[in-house]
Amino acid sequence: EDAAVVARKMIAALSAPVSVEGHELSPTVSIGIALCPADGRDVDTLLKHADTAMYGAKEAGRNGFQFFVADMNVRAFERLMLENALRRAIEQDELSLHYQPQIRVADGQVCGCEALVRWQHPEMGMIMPAQFIPVAEDSGLIVALGDWVLEQACRQQALCARAGRLLTIAVNISALQFRRADFVDRVADILARTGANPRLIELEITESALMQPSDALHERLQRLGGLGLGLALDDFGTGYSSLAYLKRLPISRLKIDRSFVRDLPGDAEDVAVASATLSLARDLGLEVVAEGVENAAQLEWLKARDCQIVQGFLFAPALPAADFLAWLQACGAQPAGTTD
Ligand code: C2E
Ligand code: MG
Ligand code: MG
Repeated sequence: EDAAVVARKMIAALSAPVSVEGHELSPTVSIGIALCPADGRDVDTLLKHADTAMYGAKEAGRNGFQFFVADMNVRAFERLMLENALRRAIEQDELSLHYQPQIRVADGQVCGCEALVRWQHPEMGMIMPAQFIPVAEDSGLIVALGDWVLEQACRQQALCARAGRLLTIAVNISALQFRRADFVDRVADILARTGANPRLIELEITESALMQPSDALHERLQRLGGLGLGLALDDFGTGYSSLAYLKRLPISRLKIDRSFVRDLPGDAEDVAVASATLSLARDLGLEVVAEGVENAAQLEWLKARDCQIVQGFLFAPALPAADFLAWLQACGAQPAGTTD
């Protein structure tokens, strides 16, 4: 209890705003606490456990303190294991891309697909991106992983084009990947290497990547647009993007997050968010993709409000490349022809 009192005082004292060269900075403080003798009897052990607890405090949202609990070590260890395994996975081809069709509502034709990464671990089986993308982001592995995903999707697009299928492939880009200064050069390099048609590649950038609008960021988006790539804003509605800024960006699509589609049309809040997104998009001349469409009632609601594109289990989940192509064949839907 005494340690907690001290921690609170330290947080209050250290988080007072400070003025540095005319800028007001508000530091946040994360404190980890290890107790002697329960958590260790020597300085090294105590510091190590306090450090682990500090990461716990950061994960819990920063500006707080956490006591060490033994289970934290297990979690830290698991995370390290996962990071090392992921490093190997990228080198040893354990990753693959699955493709989920996107359907144009007006004519029911498949107009494209979204590439979603999967990790087939030799012992643990299939691992979903929600489990390893955060680890990839924390460890910096996201850059290598992101390059691999984009290259793979570009190869698939070129392959499809040669077989006469003109499908747009959407690729998810992590905020961390996007913020790197060499991002556009990497993309241009991959496009050149794979011979993919940039007009049939769409980058899905999350709202969080655009949260702090700046000239550099704007220029980066312009350069990507200049390469001919389509840009979609993923998870729209979950962040706090500046709506005024949105109209100045070379973005062509908004993707309504599936958390706002799930309870359509019964839930008043989902209806409010989805309606607002659709009308904002209409006024700004943007297309809307609704993801997570699982039933006919959702589809009808979206259709009635002129949502252009839908994606979800109602049509198909993300499928391995071969199954996706077989699905296209079987459903008889010829992908809507897209030309340069
Ligand atoms: P996201 O980009 O918003 O992708 C949509 C997610 O919704 C996918 O989950 C997809 O399988 C799932 N989904 C699609 N339709 C339905 C539906 O009708 N019902 C339900 N319940 N779910 C549906 P997945 O594949 O697990 O991917 C999760 C997230 O991981 C993605 O969200 C994306 O943010 C991230 N991710 C996936 N692949 C990549 C990648 O290659 N790079 C990066 N940076 N992130 C990726
Ligand atoms: Mg996406
Ligand atoms: Mg999304």
